Amino acid sequence: MYYNNDTIIFLDGKYVKAAEANADMYSQSLHYGYAVFEGIRTYTQQDGTIKVFKGEEHYKRLQQSCEAVYIPFNYTVEELIDITLKVIELNKLTDAYVRPLVFCPPNMSLQKASSSSLMIAVWSWGAYLGEKLLRVKTSSFTRPNPSGFKIHAKVSGHYVNSILACQEAKSAGFDEALLLDGNGFIAEGPGSNIFLQKDGKLYTPTDANILPGITRATIIEICKQNGIVCEEKNITPQEIQQADSAFLCGTAAEVIGMESIDDYVFPINWSESIGKKIQSLYKNCTIGI
Ligand code: PMP
Repeated sequence: MYYNNDTIIFLDGKYVKAAEANADMYSQSLHYGYAVFEGIRTYTQQDGTIKVFKGEEHYKRLQQSCEAVYIPFNYTVEELIDITLKVIELNKLTDAYVRPLVFCPPNMSLQKASSSSLMIAVWSWGAYLGEKLLRVKTSSFTRPNPSGFKIHAKVSGHYVNSILACQEAKSAGFDEALLLDGNGFIAEGPGSNIFLQKDGKLYTPTDANILPGITRATIIEICKQNGIVCEEKNITPQEIQQADSAFLCGTAAEVIGMESIDDYVFPINWSESIGKKIQSLYKNCTIGI
């Protein structure tokens, strides 16, 4: 699904066949989840060119994630964007998902890495959470504690928490999970941020206990430009149960509406919600309109 015999990835300065690329079985990343990654999309622009959407923001976050967990990483943002476009071209793709992964050499100790490897893979990927409105379950798992993890960094190991929450929701017959933070406020989805609509305004959790997404920042900016009031605040589970509408957002998921949270169905029709408007404004933004 992600690659075939012709697929090319970037690996440590070379463009190589994905099927022939190797990683070391003794990598600290494989054993301890000590790696950082990004999720990016490329979009064909109105004028036909291909652009790495928010490339600078994503690759800065990759650099900052490395720094946060002491993984040495020396690529510049410009180099990373150029490499990404080259991998897209070599795979004859246009609109694709881009997965950079920075991983560490063999080391079974718990010391910081002395060097790192970079791989960048690309593949065609539809909206990660689909196009249908989502039935979401409040998770019994909370997001990692910010005093225990560098939660603003996109570290591979953090995603075990996301897998647990996602699996719990799916096993109970839901489409997706919503996690609370350690203080009991709404945090985020396993791989997305959340916005609620109440009385004509949007609300989203503050960035204290979430991965503050680049899509979330783009939406906050879209709101400013379009006169939509959007407030960042602590949101209780009771508040979401009284919201008019809600949606999740992220690079992979883009903007996707929620039908319900647990057994509460949002009363405003998605097509008449602010979220629907944001969904189309976001789409325009990705293709340079
Ligand atoms: N929260 C989590 C936990 C995520 O994994 C993601 C996806 N990177 C997001 C939020 C959304 O971030 P972005 O908009 O930067 O993709």
